Amino acid sequence: MARETINAENVTADACTDNPVQGIHVVAKPMGPVCNLVCEYCFYLEKKMLFGPNENFRMSDEVLSAFVKDYVKSQPTPVVEFVWQGGEPTLAGLDFFKQVVRQQKPYTKEKTIKNALQTNGTLLTDEWCAFLKKNNFMVGISLDGPKDIHDTYRRDRAGHGTFDAVMRGLKLLQKHGVEYNVLACVARETAKRPLDVYSFFKSEGIEFIQFAPVIERLPDETSIRSGLRLAGPAALKEEEQQVQVTDWTVLPEEYGDFLISVYEDWVRHDVGSIFVMNFEWALNAWIGNPSPVCIHAQQCGRAVVIEHNGDVYACDHFVYQPYKLGNIVNDTLTGMVKKSLHTGFGIMKETALPQWCRDCEVLKACRGGCPKHRFLKSPPGEPGLHYLCEGYRKFFLHIRKYLKAITTLLENGLPASHVMEAVKGPLVIQLPELK
Ligand code: SF4
Ligand code: SF4
Repeated sequence: MARETINAENVTADACTDNPVQGIHVVAKPMGPVCNLVCEYCFYLEKKMLFGPNENFRMSDEVLSAFVKDYVKSQPTPVVEFVWQGGEPTLAGLDFFKQVVRQQKPYTKEKTIKNALQTNGTLLTDEWCAFLKKNNFMVGISLDGPKDIHDTYRRDRAGHGTFDAVMRGLKLLQKHGVEYNVLACVARETAKRPLDVYSFFKSEGIEFIQFAPVIERLPDETSIRSGLRLAGPAALKEEEQQVQVTDWTVLPEEYGDFLISVYEDWVRHDVGSIFVMNFEWALNAWIGNPSPVCIHAQQCGRAVVIEHNGDVYACDHFVYQPYKLGNIVNDTLTGMVKKSLHTGFGIMKETALPQWCRDCEVLKACRGGCPKHRFLKSPPGEPGLHYLCEGYRKFFLHIRKYLKAITTLLENGLPASHVMEAVKGPLVIQLPELK
């Protein structure tokens, strides 16, 4: 399997019991929602509304130390992975991350500690990259494609595109040999240019890619009252009044077509050399393994978020007051995750699936998608259908033949890359003679 890219959805959250041997995944926001950019589709910038007007958005030593200690203690697994995200986490400064490594040091005798940093890349310098390399940080860099595509949505406060600054950061990561991958958001316009995006990544030597669909609804009355510009999570069991999406939200069928176009290119040229996480997850599901990504897992609920002030929320997509679980200074992560699971968060992903999904031929790969975006009604009128259903279904149905071929190869001890030969003709796989 390829290594994973980093974002909130990349944390396995595939079960929802109180089983103590299961790990907890935490995404930490050392600068809360603060960012040096104002990307048009960012859903996190407006989280500033949760805090007071004079908030100091910087994780204190007290919060950091309580978090590091409790996170290591709460993990039954030999490896503990810290994920640093934002907002823009590098705004916390290099000294903050030096302090992180110092705080983690005493625990390295009992656990393997790993760090992952999701960044927009614009503030990276030689000094940053030398630090990231020396301390084995895995870096996820947000880059949507070539300049004209990237700059459509990812801009700074003056309204200028950020492509050049991100590419400078990417080159520095490459120069210092830092392990990195690319997180590419697929918004409305991006979805129309799949091969421009994919070819560009290949031409830049990028080997690990994850595509993240951009979906947000226009605010409903509750959000407007709270001063928010986007709607909150879907209600799942109730019919939604507000199903209108923003004009940058990807269109469902176009998202499916985007993934199909990239897959068609990848399956002919790049199997085994370029790793597109969305394709890895699909193969994983086809083989029958639990999903390594929460959106396509059966259940979720063990992937929490810790804000700069120590407040813990049920998930990155559920940083809203009703989903606040406690604070790391006074509560334990294990206790807070238990509390979340007892409210039904996580298991709802499965129990609230409409019958339309339960009967769906690609349910095994899709699992109904993230509950936050299940705000449509199914054709027979049941609430709780994912906004991207049409695209998900089209993509998963389309790649079934390839997944079948790759699985057959793997079952027979052959590398998955042989599929590139197989697709040149009718999908026939010549197996070696059995002795
Ligand atoms: S609510 Fe969505 S993003 Fe959060 S853990 Fe569940 S599937 Fe993942
Ligand atoms: S493709 Fe659509 S119907 Fe099928 S499981 Fe996914 S969301 Fe449900």
